[in-house]
Amino acid sequence: MHPHPLRCRCGQLRGSVTPSRATQRIVCYCRDCRAFARHLGGDGIVDAQGGIEIVASRPSLLRFDAGLESLACLSLSPRGLLRWVAGCCGTPIGNTPRSPKFAYVGLLHSCLEHDAPPLPQSFGPLRMAVNTGSALAPVRKTAALAAASSGFSLVTTLLGARLGGGWRDNPLFDVDTGTPVCPVQVLTAQERAQAYAAADRAGN
Ligand SMILES: [Zn+2]
Ligand SMILES: [Zn+2]
Repeated sequence: MHPHPLRCRCGQLRGSVTPSRATQRIVCYCRDCRAFARHLGGDGIVDAQGGIEIVASRPSLLRFDAGLESLACLSLSPRGLLRWVAGCCGTPIGNTPRSPKFAYVGLLHSCLEHDAPPLPQSFGPLRMAVNTGSALAPVRKTAALAAASSGFSLVTTLLGARLGGGWRDNPLFDVDTGTPVCPVQVLTAQERAQAYAAADRAGN
């Protein structure tokens, strides 16, 4: 498959993700994803039901070609997921677990839509809606969109990559030490409170 371009709004951070059977389009309705998007401003990132489209993938399919120095890493709490962002312009890039041994990255649609083919063309139809219980409005279930009650099942599915040889190929971590390639900034209590308050308000 052809690599699909990854780009922040301002164009400093650029790279690609290669579609494979391990990549699928999902929508996550959890408060954490929404709080992250709202913390960054989040215009046009959250849909009317409070969902965010994500391409679930593996770090080994991800490449950065330019601007890696502008990458920043946030977390909503000291043990929360790592939430990657283009520090140059605040474009959310994706989420990963804290350890590279869990070979998962969820890429937000916001970094996959600039100078790029439509997401269905590269990654196929939407496969799953996760954490629909936290949606801001009822989420209609369609045959193509089997709702799962929790995001964890998806992560478990993708953990097929865990401890397989591929996990060491990860542009977001120094895999020898298990540390992220940039320092993790944990939101302050006040920032966190503001982000979650914004996450509970409707409107995109
Ligand atoms: Zn940028
Ligand atoms: Zn989420």
